[in-house]
Amino acid sequence: MATLVNPNLITDLQKFGAADVNACFSCGNCTAICPLADNDATFPRRFIRLAQVGLTDDLVTSKELWTCYQCGMCTSRCPQEADPAEFMATARRYAIAKLDRTGIARAMYTSPVAAAVISLVGLVIFGGFFASVKATAEERLVFGVPYEWIHLVGLVVMILVVLIAVFNLAMMARATAKRDEVSAKSLFGSRKAWGNTLRAVWYSVGVESLGQKRYREDCEDDDPKEPLYRRRWLIHFLTVWGFLALFAATLIHYGSDIIGLQGAAVGVVALVARVVGTIGGIAMMYGVTWFMINRKQKVSAAAQHSAPSDWLFLWMLWITGLTGFIIEVSLYLPQDHPQPWAYVLFLVHVAIAMELVLFLPFTKFAHVMYRPVALFFYALAKQRSAELQSV
Ligand code: SF4
Ligand code: SF4
Repeated sequence: MATLVNPNLITDLQKFGAADVNACFSCGNCTAICPLADNDATFPRRFIRLAQVGLTDDLVTSKELWTCYQCGMCTSRCPQEADPAEFMATARRYAIAKLDRTGIARAMYTSPVAAAVISLVGLVIFGGFFASVKATAEERLVFGVPYEWIHLVGLVVMILVVLIAVFNLAMMARATAKRDEVSAKSLFGSRKAWGNTLRAVWYSVGVESLGQKRYREDCEDDDPKEPLYRRRWLIHFLTVWGFLALFAATLIHYGSDIIGLQGAAVGVVALVARVVGTIGGIAMMYGVTWFMINRKQKVSAAAQHSAPSDWLFLWMLWITGLTGFIIEVSLYLPQDHPQPWAYVLFLVHVAIAMELVLFLPFTKFAHVMYRPVALFFYALAKQRSAELQSV
C-alpha cells in the first residue's frame, strides 16, 4: 500500500507546540541520554525524523510515543535546541487531535478562543438543562434538581464518551497491531499466547497506569529535582487515584440505587461513598493544584508548554473538586431556609463534571485511554524481543 507523505507535518505540529525540529541533524545525543532508549538506537530522534519526512500515520499511531513521560533529559543535551522532550509531548497532542475525527480536539488544542467557546456552550447546555427540569412531587431532589435526571444524563454522557473512545482506540490499536504483526491468533491462539497477553495487560494497566512505575523512575532523572510533595509522579498519582475514588463513590451511590437498598444499609453505603469521595476529592485537589502551580512556574521540562485545553482540563478538575467540597460542607449547615447559592453551585458542579467526562476524547484527559493501549503493545513487543534473544 502507498505511504502518504504530508509535507506540512512540521508546520502543522508547530500549532500544537513543538519547537523547530528542522534544526535536528540526528546527532543521537538525545538517544544516548534517554533512559527509555534501552537497545533502541533510534528513540526518540526517530519521531523527529518521521515529522521531517512527513509520515503522519506512523507518528500518530506509534506506541513508543506514549512511553515517554517527558523527563526533559534529551532536551538538556540537544546541541540544536530542537527540544525533543517538548516535541514528544506535542506529537502526543497531535495524535489525540488526529485520532479524533470530530475536529473538536484540534480546535481545543490550537485555539484558546475555540476551547473557551466549546466549554462555555457545554456548560450552558448542561446547566440550563438541569435548571429547567421541573420536578414532580414524588421525585427525590438534590439541591432542587431531580436525582433521576442527573443519573440519566450521566448515563447518556458515559455511553457517548465510550462510543467515541472505543472508535478512536480501535483505529489506533488496529494500526499498531498491523505494524507489529499482532493478530487475534498471536494474542489468544494458545495457552502461551494467553499468558503473554495477560502479562501485557497487567503491565500496562496494573504496573504502569495504576502503579505508575516508570513515571516514578523517569522523575528520578528530572532536572531540577522537585521536593517529594510536588514531584510530578506523586501529584499525578494522587490525581489519578483521587479521580478514581470520586468515580467509585459515584458508582457506589448509583449501584445502591439500582439494587434498591433498604433500611440501615442505605445509611452505611451512603457513609462509605461519602468517605471514599471525600478522601478522593482531597487527593485530587492536592494533585491538580500542584500541577497548576508547576505549570505556572514552568518548574520542569514537562511544565514548559501548556496548550489552552491543558489548562482547561486542569481548571475543570479543580472547579469540580472545589464546588464538590463546598456542596458537601453546605449539607451540614442548617437546612431550614432555602440556599439559592447552593443550588447555583450545584448546577455549576454537575455541569462541569458532565462536561469533563464528555471531553475525555478531546483533551489531555485522552491520555488515560491511549497510554494503556500503547503500553500493552509495547509490553508485547518487549516479550517478543526477549523470546527472540533467548533462542
Ligand atoms: S540531540 Fe537534538 S539534534 Fe541531536 S538527534 Fe536529538 S533532537 Fe536531533
Ligand atoms: S523526555 Fe525523557 S523519556 Fe522522553 S524522550 Fe526525552 S529523555 Fe526520553
